[in-house]
Amino acid sequence: MIRPEDLLHPTPAGLYCPPGDFYIDPVRPVDRAVITHGHADHARAGHGAVLATRQTLAIMAERYGADFTLQPQSVEYGEATVINGVDLRLAPAGHVLGSAQVEVRWKGLIMVVSGDYKRRRDPTCAPFEPVPCHVFISEATFGLPVFSHPPADEEVERLVRSLGQFPERAHLVGAYALGKAQRIIRLLREAGWDRTIYVHGALERLNALYEREGVDLGPLAPTRDLPKNALGGEVAIAPPSAIQDRWARRFADPVTAFASGWMGVKARARQRGVELPLVVSDHADWNELTATFTEIKPEEIWITHGREEGLLRWAEINGQKARALRLVGYDEEDEEALDVRPD
Ligand SMILES: [Zn+2]
Ligand SMILES: [Zn+2]
Repeated sequence: MIRPEDLLHPTPAGLYCPPGDFYIDPVRPVDRAVITHGHADHARAGHGAVLATRQTLAIMAERYGADFTLQPQSVEYGEATVINGVDLRLAPAGHVLGSAQVEVRWKGLIMVVSGDYKRRRDPTCAPFEPVPCHVFISEATFGLPVFSHPPADEEVERLVRSLGQFPERAHLVGAYALGKAQRIIRLLREAGWDRTIYVHGALERLNALYEREGVDLGPLAPTRDLPKNALGGEVAIAPPSAIQDRWARRFADPVTAFASGWMGVKARARQRGVELPLVVSDHADWNELTATFTEIKPEEIWITHGREEGLLRWAEINGQKARALRLVGYDEEDEEALDVRPD
């Protein structure tokens, strides 16, 4: 019987598969990469060949240009492919549009790399599918029992209530450009907000890509051409960094909101000067993580990028074999510093 470490093991460039000679979400340029999703810390430019879902390839092309790799290979969820004799399949991860778990199968051993994932409903992407496996490699961004995210629709209802309460103030919502912004817009639509939603220039291309992929975002307009102090009682969505920079100063006395799993930590909201923290996360919280382990029941769990200790302790108590993988180069919440073009 082969050992899991023979099939996948961490290296400075990322998780490497020796028999297949490929990396999963490498943080350095490599000859052959399999990419779980389009967030910039997972999907970097400059790899020789890239295998990913069609949507992830489209996101990378949008971000880095069509020549981001010499050899793109798109696969559908569930479609079987082989790289150098190693069987590979992608399954939905429920994180952002096109996000995938990678199932790697070789000589009877099945390992699944979750990438980033969540189990909550998200109207902008396919839901997470549990894949039976011997080894499940899980992210751990919110891997502590204190992290328990409320229902996202209730958070967005708080935003809609605030709009009713402060009809003269613009509501500026900080949301990451890939995934979070589109999810907030969809949730606003589901909450009955059918007016024009204003968007920062840095979100426009990914919004358009989501629309092309069949995610209806409703009427949108750029904030670029608005007069000063416009948007009383309206919503504008921008990358989190823009909420604190010059862009936000064009609005008089705005309500500032920020949609992030980290907004569950009151000190973080205070520190960022966020008046209306919205706890909306594209990562699994503690309950989602442990429920996923219980559901999949792998022989072994490998835990990476985030808070490993609590989950290791949980595994020990529950008789589950587990280890921490020290992979470096992944952000706590994706693309914080990324992709903010002038608006
Ligand atoms: Zn991500
Ligand atoms: Zn990540």
